Amino acid sequence: MTSVMWFRRDLRVGDNPALLHALDDGPTLPLFVLDPALWGPAGLPRQAYLVESLRSLGRDVPLSVVHGDPVSQVVKAAKEVGASSVHVAADHGPYGRQRDEAVAEALEEAGIAFARTGSPYAVGPGRVVNGSGDPYKVYTPFSKAWAEHGWRDPVDPPDDPHWRHLEDTVDLPDVTLPDGLTLPPAGEAAALERWHTFLDHIEGYDDDRDKMGVDGTSRMSTYLKWGEIHPRTMLADLAPLRSDGSRVYRKELAWREFYADVLDARPETAREYLRPEYARMPYIDPDSSDSHFDAWRRGRTGFPIVDAGMRQLRATGWMHNRLRMIVASFLVKDLHLEWQHGARHFMHWLVDGDLASNQHGWQWTAGSGTDASPFFRVFNPTTQGKKFDPSGGYIRQWVEELSDLDEVPDPHEPSDKVRDLVGYPAAVVDHKAERQDALDRWESIRD
Ligand code: FAD
Repeated sequence: MTSVMWFRRDLRVGDNPALLHALDDGPTLPLFVLDPALWGPAGLPRQAYLVESLRSLGRDVPLSVVHGDPVSQVVKAAKEVGASSVHVAADHGPYGRQRDEAVAEALEEAGIAFARTGSPYAVGPGRVVNGSGDPYKVYTPFSKAWAEHGWRDPVDPPDDPHWRHLEDTVDLPDVTLPDGLTLPPAGEAAALERWHTFLDHIEGYDDDRDKMGVDGTSRMSTYLKWGEIHPRTMLADLAPLRSDGSRVYRKELAWREFYADVLDARPETAREYLRPEYARMPYIDPDSSDSHFDAWRRGRTGFPIVDAGMRQLRATGWMHNRLRMIVASFLVKDLHLEWQHGARHFMHWLVDGDLASNQHGWQWTAGSGTDASPFFRVFNPTTQGKKFDPSGGYIRQWVEELSDLDEVPDPHEPSDKVRDLVGYPAAVVDHKAERQDALDRWESIRD
């Protein structure tokens, strides 16, 4: 018997139960389908990262890459190698679920089995339910039930695997990155290296995780997004650790699982407000002349901490979590734009862009999500900057105009004279006035 292992968001060989099952069935074709429906909207940073990750996987297994609609391509590939089964890790995203149903149907017609084993999560979305059998709507009870539910131990990499490959495959596309953008190293080995480096100082994570100028977070989001490491592997390494840092870190992994669970239960919230009343709030059209959307996207709002975050995003395809909250709050509550516009921009640039974490991170900040921060809690960007980047080092790193210590003594609040001198824009809005405006808009949707 021959089988196919269809890789998607699980670009690794280690701790990959679906791959082991495929190999149990016999010699296996490792397959990746470049699906135009996902490739097109991905944005250059994610496209470039994916290509590097596939190159890395291709050094570990003889990966065959094809291009086109998975419904026809997977069936064609399976038939070509005479496979009797196709193995995957389940995809719980709205598109992935629909696609997999269509692929399963087409395979069934061809007499080929479709087997889902595991998922990109420690606990598959939909498995953690409350006493009434319903999904949790709030993070804290979810995270407790999630921890009680538990997860399987990691599995070993395959031993003496036998591979098949396709005669006709496509070359991986060359993606030219926008000027000034540098991406992290991709692949399973890079993921494990970063994880082990982070584990050496995880005990400081609880203190350092909010400090933007410090390399205090794990930067594992990209590796998790592409499945170059599985959270189960990470949780197994965390299990014997007793520091506050490791305890807090585990809770962060639970946020990722929570949002996947929410999206699984409410797939429409990838685009729509989880709390529908927020759709009625008056917002500014991003294309109107007074929207300042472009200034936000380009990091030229005149609010140094906001601009630093937006420029870090364009330079690295990643942004610190505290910054994601600050710039998201700024877009919705200072510029009065709907969260979806910001979420789309993030999904274009983020290498870790993940529909569940991104859309629900945005909805949390916008006040419309599950377990949301209340709308009236409006971040003051300047105060946030001073609190979490007290030295101004983070601003100086990313906002070149404000980097000179002599010319700009306080990068959080440069004077008008300094702004003129260094060519840094004036603030596009008055935060105090916009905060009041946001609260007035919110009043209009309260019963
Ligand atoms: P660490 O602090 O080291 O956290 C460890 C891991 O826990 C992360 O890698 C991530 O998998 C998970 N995690 C931590 N915080 C969160 C959170 N709030 N929600 C979900 N998972 C979390 N994360 C993404 O992976 N992809 C996204 O597209 C994404 N978009 C976001 C958009 C907004 C508006 C906000 C507020 C948050 C978003 N996040 C997203 C969550 C979080 O910002 C990133 O996971 C984190 O910054 C990644 O850096 P890290 O790996 O160093 O995080």
